[in-house]
Amino acid sequence: MNIRDNHSILLPAATIAGTRHGAPNRDAGNAIHNASTGEVIGWQEHADAGQVDAAVRAARAALDAWRNRTPASRGAVLRKIAELLAADRARLSAMQQQVSGKPPFEADTDVSDAIATFEYYADLCADGSLFAADTLALPDHTVTGERHYEAVGVAALIVPWNFPMVTTSWKIAPALAAGCTVVLKPSEFTSPVEHRLAEIMAAAGVPDGVVNLVNGGGEVGARLAAHPLIDKISFTGSTAVGRMVMQTAAQDMKRVTLELGGKSALIVRADADIEHAVALAVGGAFTNAGQMCSATSRIIVHDDVYRKFMAAFEAAVRALVVASPQTENVAMGPLVSRAQRTRVEALLAQGVADGAKIAFSGTLDSACAEGFFMAPVVIAEPDTANVVWTEEVFGPVACVKSFRTDDEAIALANATRYGLVATVVTRDDEAARRYRDALRVGLVWINTPQLIFPQVCWGGLGLSGVGRELGVAGLRSYQELRHTIVSRG
Ligand code: NAD
Repeated sequence: MNIRDNHSILLPAATIAGTRHGAPNRDAGNAIHNASTGEVIGWQEHADAGQVDAAVRAARAALDAWRNRTPASRGAVLRKIAELLAADRARLSAMQQQVSGKPPFEADTDVSDAIATFEYYADLCADGSLFAADTLALPDHTVTGERHYEAVGVAALIVPWNFPMVTTSWKIAPALAAGCTVVLKPSEFTSPVEHRLAEIMAAAGVPDGVVNLVNGGGEVGARLAAHPLIDKISFTGSTAVGRMVMQTAAQDMKRVTLELGGKSALIVRADADIEHAVALAVGGAFTNAGQMCSATSRIIVHDDVYRKFMAAFEAAVRALVVASPQTENVAMGPLVSRAQRTRVEALLAQGVADGAKIAFSGTLDSACAEGFFMAPVVIAEPDTANVVWTEEVFGPVACVKSFRTDDEAIALANATRYGLVATVVTRDDEAARRYRDALRVGLVWINTPQLIFPQVCWGGLGLSGVGRELGVAGLRSYQELRHTIVSRG
């Protein structure tokens, strides 16, 4: 950050129309931690009601000039953001590692994802066709019809801590492409990297007021969501808070996109390559220490290969190096905060008290004592009513259950009110197609890791949310669809 004092990060309460407001005091509630060491590495101020209001008004004041630019002109700014992110890759990755404790390869992947997202929406702007009005063929020859897309207006963007900069780019890039102006509220746990992203956007030529940032927790998010001058809320976070945001939005009929929780399945058929299935299971359950909305924490394995799978899975989990980002061969980092670890441990303890059996766990070395680390845990054959099987744990806890028929596996996978993603491991193309059609989720990966591309929409069914991010639908979610019918005579 460019605001440092004795190497501490010092974040203002808000950046409004390019100006920083409110310096932090050093109250414990304002501390920013290093997740691997538990050390305080800086402080941040939380925005007050006046600062939230000023940020929304700044976005409103900047709206007309930004949305009246050509898409190509907005796209040029997005392209420049992608270039500056690439130039700043090492620092952004280091910040992710410091704040969240992500292993270097995970932090680097996050930076690459953000760059690819800005590039993709820059390309859509340069192409221009998704922004132009088009003519509709109507069954009445005395009239012509036209379809137009215009920016929704001012968008409130509220994001969680697990993929800072990534979930943020998924919102900011399409919002700016569409011609919206925004107020971003990052998570209070990972705000430094979002402030850096805001600095980069300003350096890339985003005009003052187009992107504003307010710091703080749920209170600040709630105030922002309720502001009457907000037209659209894009929220990523828990289903519980998503519900509150949707209720708030209903007051003014604000448009909403909600990317919420999940409890996703990975299905291993009897014909699967078991080594590959284990690699996908480890990645799906323990990447980002399991703190993923898309975590495939319910692993469903065919009876015929169950023992073989479990033996290989145990060896792989025991071999995982759980450590700080600086450790050689690190595979999994800490949880984001002490509070998150306490929450995950409490859910696990509840599951065990209710009868869940831990099959095996990974190990922590003594260097992990100070950070927010937790060893990966695998539970075998929990009851389908046990919390570890039903609730989003959002930590390194995976469950494995066996099945005999495809119908049984599909029923187990679909027996949840969430519906974000699923992974299927099979060598049978026909079976893969049947699973694809039957699984009630937004995205199915067949024999692949959790690949994410900006061209492919992200979002789920049921309690996993409303709407889609990324892809063309991600752009459309920041546009209003309008029509004109004109007499030919
Ligand atoms: P959270 O719901 O506690 O917080 C998310 C954001 O909302 C934070 O910025 C928080 O400060 C803010 N917030 C809290 N209360 C608010 C309120 N009343 N009004 C407005 N804003 C409020 O979630 P979290 O703990 O930060 O993140 C973990 C959750 O996010 C998990 O449930 C996970 O599944 C979900 N998530 C979903 C996706 C997805 O794409 N579907 C991606 C990442 C995370």
